[in-house]
Amino acid sequence: MSTQHFAPYPWQMREWGTLRGLLDTDKMPHGVLIAGVAEIGKKQFCMALAARMLCQKPDLNRACFRCKACNLVVNGSHPDLFIVSPEESGKSLSVDAIRALNDFATKTPMYRGWRVAVIDPTDGLTHNAANALLKTLEEPGDKTLLLLIHHQTGELLPTIRSRCQRLFFPLPVESLAAEWLGEQCDAEDYGELLALAGRRPLRAARLSKDGLLTQLKATEQIFERVAHDQLSAVEAAENLKAIRTDDLIEWLQEYLFQSVASTAKNGKIPSKAYFLYDDQLNFAKKQLASKVNPNIQLLVEDLLLGWARLSSLVT
Ligand SMILES: [Zn+2]
Repeated sequence: MSTQHFAPYPWQMREWGTLRGLLDTDKMPHGVLIAGVAEIGKKQFCMALAARMLCQKPDLNRACFRCKACNLVVNGSHPDLFIVSPEESGKSLSVDAIRALNDFATKTPMYRGWRVAVIDPTDGLTHNAANALLKTLEEPGDKTLLLLIHHQTGELLPTIRSRCQRLFFPLPVESLAAEWLGEQCDAEDYGELLALAGRRPLRAARLSKDGLLTQLKATEQIFERVAHDQLSAVEAAENLKAIRTDDLIEWLQEYLFQSVASTAKNGKIPSKAYFLYDDQLNFAKKQLASKVNPNIQLLVEDLLLGWARLSSLVT
């Protein structure tokens, strides 16, 4: 990985300042909850902080990227940095992964400085995994920092939350996100790209590749055709196969959010049906993240039927 993967994004300067302040005044807690929706750059923020904390000669703000520790961090082999991620992308962390974290957090550090663990993510933990994490948070070693990434797809155990300082990452300011996107990809309209990506820059960059954007744009039509009985849910789900189900759900939630916002703006009370559909979407998200692999075709068909129901209730 190059050193640019260890710098905070331009829209994270407030949060960066907060944690640097805690570090500089010796007030860094053992656990920090890095909260905010997925694909806005929380992991990279954690990596930047870890690099800064493990660096042997940091300047005021950043790691030096010249010392031995920086070299190890960038190569992914620093013994005092531990990253916990699921075996399969999109799934929740296993209890074994959390136990390995516990081993790391109770060992003595290899170097004389900090030990940093990034837990990515803490969403959808099973009861056992959550309890194992709680145990780690209760007995951390000296100078040990646990960075708990939380995409806010559900509730964390209150006992975990209460042992962490919570740092909330809002959606980035559009101008900063659009400027960054301009360096990552070519798009005709960065504002439109961001809107389709639920205002999440990393997601927008991902969607801009491999023609995903065109597919996502066609999604609305497919959903509308199901709502108007012009296409069956079975056929529609077939047509949507190229789109990742989690992207589809995010897109639907953003669409709901916009619909509710515009209804409220016109002085009307949004229909309860919007919120019921949102519940269905959140449930689908949980199913995707769970250990049991759901039947994707059926799940997408259900989402299409839910949409058709919603359309019949709100129009
Ligand atoms: Zn360094």
